[in-house]
Amino acid sequence: MPAIAQHIQQINDTLPAGVRLVAVSKTHPASCVQEAYEAGQHIFGESRPQEFAQKAALLPSGIEWHFIGHLQTNKVKQVVGLARLIHAVDSERLLLEIEKEAAKRALHVACLLQVHIATEEAKFGFSPDELQHLFAQNFFIHTPHVQLAGLMGMATNTGDHQQVRCEFRGLKQLFDRIKQTYFAGETPFCELSMGMSGDYRIAIDEGSTLIRIGTAIFGQR
Ligand SMILES: *Cc1c(COP(=O)(O)O)cnc(C)c1O
Repeated sequence: MPAIAQHIQQINDTLPAGVRLVAVSKTHPASCVQEAYEAGQHIFGESRPQEFAQKAALLPSGIEWHFIGHLQTNKVKQVVGLARLIHAVDSERLLLEIEKEAAKRALHVACLLQVHIATEEAKFGFSPDELQHLFAQNFFIHTPHVQLAGLMGMATNTGDHQQVRCEFRGLKQLFDRIKQTYFAGETPFCELSMGMSGDYRIAIDEGSTLIRIGTAIFGQR
């Protein structure tokens, strides 16, 4: 079996029900995506708008594309309408820009709010306090075309598994709290995107529903 298909199968064999695999194809050519698609993988993640648009145009329409990277407000137009889910919405400005574009096209755009859970400073995202504040002040009344589908986070890039576990656990607790408080009885707020090649097993243990895996499928970038 070709390597890509084999890697996908190995990951899928260990996935519990309710966890979906996003194959992160950024920097890899369309031919690799095609190979993975033919092996049965249907959800792919891209993180650069231009590369995303170019690849999507070449590939089967049966692919469910997710935009997983940091999205600049001036690139929103390239992503809305193409991505089924935007994983890393990390500012009020971006929310308002997605709202504007979605309203213009009469679409509802499913988004995850990115929460900063790592100790590294460079990573994007709302702090847990900022996020709770957004909900408490009813910010989302201004974004009716943004369909809030859950939360996303990236753990610190460290070999300290206990720390990674703590960060994922904290995100899951925040997710549960927000879901109970603001989405009681509603199903759309149901996704928790956490876990990459190096830490997805821990993320699954801690309640992830979407794992984003590049290197372990396609090899080094
Ligand atoms: C690149 C990327 C991934 C995949 O990382 P791997 O370590 O290659 O599995 C996951 N999430 C985001 C946001 C990424 O940018």
